[in-house]
Amino acid sequence: MAVPLLDLNRQNSALHAELTAAFERVLRSGHFILGSEVDAFERECAAFLGAKHAISVSSGTDAILVALMALDLKPGDEVICPSFTFFATAGCIARLGAIPVFADSLAATFNLDAEDVARRITPRTRAIMPVHLFGQSADLTPVLALAKAHGLAVIEDTAQALGARHHGRPCGTIGEFGTYSFFPSKNLGGFGDGGLVTTNRDDLAENVRLLRTHGSKPKYYHKKVGGNFRLDALQCALLRAKLPHLPAYCAARQRNAAFYTQQLAGLPGVTLPTAAAGNDHIWNQFTLRVAGPGRRDALRQQLTAAGIGTEVYYPVPLHQQECFAHLPRVSLPVAEQLATEVISVPVFPELTAAERDEVVAGVRRALGKA
Ligand SMILES: *Cc1c(COP(=O)(O)O)cnc(C)c1O
Repeated sequence: MAVPLLDLNRQNSALHAELTAAFERVLRSGHFILGSEVDAFERECAAFLGAKHAISVSSGTDAILVALMALDLKPGDEVICPSFTFFATAGCIARLGAIPVFADSLAATFNLDAEDVARRITPRTRAIMPVHLFGQSADLTPVLALAKAHGLAVIEDTAQALGARHHGRPCGTIGEFGTYSFFPSKNLGGFGDGGLVTTNRDDLAENVRLLRTHGSKPKYYHKKVGGNFRLDALQCALLRAKLPHLPAYCAARQRNAAFYTQQLAGLPGVTLPTAAAGNDHIWNQFTLRVAGPGRRDALRQQLTAAGIGTEVYYPVPLHQQECFAHLPRVSLPVAEQLATEVISVPVFPELTAAERDEVVAGVRRALGKA
């Protein structure tokens, strides 16, 4: 039986009536940019997250970019971020002429190593950007302490962790900014690109709203150079139909992860992902580590041959990317090792029991433990 890494149609077809109604509502309104659907979606996101301000934007990448712009990041400023993450985290820093300073990750959680962050702070450091990778919070307590001691902003890249919590607090609402993505593969997947910025600070929210529409207020009077970072009314209306279901989607992913954790325990050379103490993990990905030269790639090949979808998030850490070759060379042993060991298997909410069994059997067979 083939098992896809992700099947969006199962989730969206169950909501066919609501989605069609939302589409028709916007179509009939004739109102496509900002306006009541956007306002309502932002209010509903703010309520869901317990954030003072939630501002919809054009993508998760633009959420990071506009948050950094709202902090008035300048060329030559340094922002410390993980190397083991999706490219956008560091790409946005570099696009503003600032310098991404890569810190290592912790193997147990795939998330930023705060002790390594501490070593990389300089007089030019302006911000720290932890990423809540694969659906669980980074260890924020030491990051916030460093930020406070050095007067730095904290931007939480929450693209993969909308709905996750850290000691009871929603991820993305703890630092100066939370940035989120509605890319279709994220836990709240939209119908194209989309993103969100949250903040509890009125001044920063005002900056983000200005920058989202070319820095203008009133119209045609430009306080700052911004861009077009708006999220379509249509996208907001469709996402409003899905947001109430997000807790159930996350719970289903948690059940799938618990099943794998039980069924795949004890395989030689395999480390299963775990939630750190205090974290409600929402399992955007279920990512195994397979130690030993070539063993991860062999597992992937065998699962592919069996029709089981997998992906390697991420095969090249950012400090080793060609576009960052001009930056000072750093050695980040954990990030480098993770890139050779990780493999993500299907964990999406609508996975059937038979499909989960198939994934477990496929992994055990490939590792010689059928
Ligand atoms: C998906 C993702 C982004 C970017 O989001 P887009 O909506 O695809 O632009 C940024 N950071 C991380 C960690 C992501 O996973």
